[in-house]
This record gives sequence, structure tokens and C-alpha cells, in this order.
Amino acid sequence: MEATLTFLGTGTSMGVPTLGCGCAVCTDARLPGSLNRRTRPSILLAYGGDAAKGRSPHHVLIDSGPDFHAQATRLNLTYIDAVLYTHGHADHVLGMDDLRPLSFRLPGGLPLFADEATAQVLERVFEYTFRKENRYPTSARVILHRIPEEAGDAIELFGAKFIHVPVTHGPTTIVGYRFGNAAYLTDLNDIPETSLALLEGLDILILDALRREPHPSHAHVEKSIELVRRIQPQRAFFTHISHDLDHALTNASLPSPIQLAFDGQQLSFDIAPC
Ligand SMILES: [Zn+2]
Ligand SMILES: [Zn+2]
Ligand SMILES: [Zn+2]
Repeated sequence: MEATLTFLGTGTSMGVPTLGCGCAVCTDARLPGSLNRRTRPSILLAYGGDAAKGRSPHHVLIDSGPDFHAQATRLNLTYIDAVLYTHGHADHVLGMDDLRPLSFRLPGGLPLFADEATAQVLERVFEYTFRKENRYPTSARVILHRIPEEAGDAIELFGAKFIHVPVTHGPTTIVGYRFGNAAYLTDLNDIPETSLALLEGLDILILDALRREPHPSHAHVEKSIELVRRIQPQRAFFTHISHDLDHALTNASLPSPIQLAFDGQQLSFDIAPC
């Protein structure tokens, strides 16, 4: 099944430009249309549907960060069918409340999927949305589902499988997802052997690459290149990028088939069968 992946945001937690920073990349990022302008990380998948019968493709969002409103506006996004979460850090969950108008369109509510740790963060941060009694009446109409916790476990959404690929993010293990022949692994500094086994035969690998220097909870460029060489996808895209990496200069230095992703970039791939 043909799918389109859109990078809604490719920046690190602080975004690029970084507030208060006057470096060359941040200065360029303040110019309209700059490929160095990076909002907080998230992707949108569109697949299925039937244009001939007037049925729109399904929209699955991975993470709703603090820039979700601007990202959805830029893309003229009018509906979402489900949201998958990678982990509970602010740059990945704080846009949950902006799902409200889209959640009201769905009679049964908008399904959210997260592991136990992330679900607990969502329930704490957005307590007024998830409380059982005296729920704030106009809060998002969302239904939070726990995903299976084991590596290789999958959930099925609209005919595509989303496989849980655990990755190491500093002191924690968070959720990466494989869907068809693509994988989205944001926020990691390493990938366990058991997860590498779930990443064979990929067309597209999307991987965290924060900056040039090593970092305790994010892969740096050299580490991510090493991971791409092990996994051997057809195409690799780095995301969760800080102001350390100029788009054009870094792309010119990266070995094939690796590129920095950029906000708004779209890729086509096969989402099924897994
Ligand atoms: Zn992050
Ligand atoms: Zn800067
Ligand atoms: Zn994180």
C-alpha cells in the first residue's frame, strides 16, 4: 500500500532558531523559507482511502509537539485518524491539546496510542482531559490506548502494522515505530541488538542526529552514520536536529544514502505488508 510521509518538524527540543542564539544557522533560520528553520519533531503518515470513491487517505500522526498548531496550519491539515506517541518529553506531547478541534470531528473520539510511561505523562499533564469525573467539558475527545510493551509487538491501524521498536534514550527506553518498509526512530542514543533485528530490509530509516559532538541521550552525526551502516536502509534521513548542523553544508558532507530531513519534506514508500 502506497503511503506518504510528511516531516511536520525536524528540530530538536528547543527548535531552530534557538531562542536568543545569534549563530549563523539560527540567523539563517529566521529568514522565511530557510531549510534551517526546524520546528519540534513529528511526522504525518497518509495512506489508504480510495480517491476514485471519494474516500480520503487515513492520517496517522506520530507525536504532537508544541508546534503542532503551526505545522497543521502550514499543511492545511483538516483531519487526523490516530496519534502514536514515542515518549513523554515536552517536545513530543505538548501539542496534544491542539488536537481538540480535530478530535471533535470523530464521533467515537480520536484514538491515541502510547506505552505505559508516556500514557502516564499524558494523563498527568492533561489531567483535566483524562479525569473520569468532572471532566472539563470542552477538552479533547481523545481515547488513550496502551500499546503492547514488548519489542516486535504490533498494533494495526487502517490496514497497516506499527511495530514497537524499543530504542535507548539516555536513562530511558522509548518507542520507535516500524511501519511497512519505513521506520521512525527519534530521540535515541543507541539501538539494542533485539531492535536492530526488527529493522531489516528497510527502504526508509529516519534517525535522531542531534549535532556533531556526542550527547548523553541523543545520537550525534558520527553515531547515526554508524547505525545507518549497520541497518543498511535504501534511504536514511536524520531528524531531531539542533542549530549545530547547517542544512546545505551538512548534506554536502553526509555519505550516501543519508540526508538531513527538513520541515515539510515528503517521501513516498510502501506501508504494507510489514
Ligand atoms: Zn525530543
Ligand atoms: Zn544557534
Ligand atoms: Zn526525548
